[in-house]
Amino acid sequence: MITKSAEAKAGTDDGKSDYFSRMSELDHEQLVFCQDNETGLKAIIAIHSTVLGPAMGGSRMWNYATTEAAVTDALRLARGMTYKSAMAGLNVGGGKAVLIGDPDVLKSETYFRRFGKFIESLNGKYVTAGDVNITVKDLSYIHAETRHVTGLPENVGGSGSSSVITAYGTYMGIKSAAKYAYGQDSLEGKKIAVQGVGSVGINLLPYLKKENAKIYISDVDTARLQFAAREYGAHIVSQEDIYQIEMDIFAPCALGAVINDVTINKLKCNVIAGAANNQLEHEEKHGEALRQKAIVYVPDFVVNAGGIMAVAAEYFKEYNKAFIYQKVENIYTACTDILQYAETNNIIAQKAAILLAEQRIHSIGNLKKSM
Ligand code: NAD
Repeated sequence: MITKSAEAKAGTDDGKSDYFSRMSELDHEQLVFCQDNETGLKAIIAIHSTVLGPAMGGSRMWNYATTEAAVTDALRLARGMTYKSAMAGLNVGGGKAVLIGDPDVLKSETYFRRFGKFIESLNGKYVTAGDVNITVKDLSYIHAETRHVTGLPENVGGSGSSSVITAYGTYMGIKSAAKYAYGQDSLEGKKIAVQGVGSVGINLLPYLKKENAKIYISDVDTARLQFAAREYGAHIVSQEDIYQIEMDIFAPCALGAVINDVTINKLKCNVIAGAANNQLEHEEKHGEALRQKAIVYVPDFVVNAGGIMAVAAEYFKEYNKAFIYQKVENIYTACTDILQYAETNNIIAQKAAILLAEQRIHSIGNLKKSM
């Protein structure tokens, strides 16, 4: 088993592989390359920060075109996890693992157990969970080799699917943003467009229905759309129209980068609050464009923190469903604080959230040093 910290110029596929510079730019602590010929495992674990606690973040399996692309994804996602957990008030830091290759070809028990051994070798500095293309079965294999894995099924003592609680947190984010935009958080009669009725989106709809919101939905999956329309009285709109219908609130729950040069000109809403990760194609540029249009945007990584709250509690053996739901309600206040901080300091909400997260990391870091 070979685990080595990244070396400058370790990658060779283009000129941007000075990994030390890139780690320094994003203030990363450690980058770990894991390789195993027997199983074909090629994984990169990015540990952005362990100031608040172990670096926690899911493993993603993807057939990256280059090592460079995989490193970029790992570094960016791990940093996002640091901010997400810090803003969620958790005592965990940020990390992420990317597994390079085709899931249909590579996945096996040995492959994931080998990966589990690599995680174990980090002695709890990195804690993994599920992400794109990683199932609970895969996590169970990892769990056979390390206890530094969370998000396990309920039948083995885990917290189960995180999408239900993520949907609840998203609902809290929507209500908080509505309160800020309209002076009250009731969603009664509000036209809410939910893009994507997958695991999170579909679990958001009952909350919106209960408040008598007018729900509009889009998805690429017709069966899901029809089910959601039938079950929650939602109106189906096309993938293009979801950006341009007259609406009060837009809730992206499918894809990243949906707030971009093209869609910003189409959007006719007062609020954007949804679960999808990385909604702003360019954080500064598109965050500012929303501010100019007086659209209230609550940062995705704050709104969608319900899942990390649940898996962190599971890891620390504190998981209790009722207690976690109560904690997730704090997303409402976190969003209000961010929006107010942004307004007071005349900055975009995304930046406000990052600054508040950094403040918490800094002050708790100092607290730890002082004893
Ligand atoms: P999912 O794959 O279950 O659902 C995504 C849905 O979006 C699917 O129904 C898919 O058909 C649909 N979709 C794909 N392309 C679309 C398009 N162009 N237009 C409209 N719909 C489209 O994923 P999920 O778990 O529901 O996650 C949704 C988003 O929330 C993702 O960005 C994810 O990263 C983020 N998120 C999820 C969780 C979680 O706990 N599941 C936690 C945090 C963040």
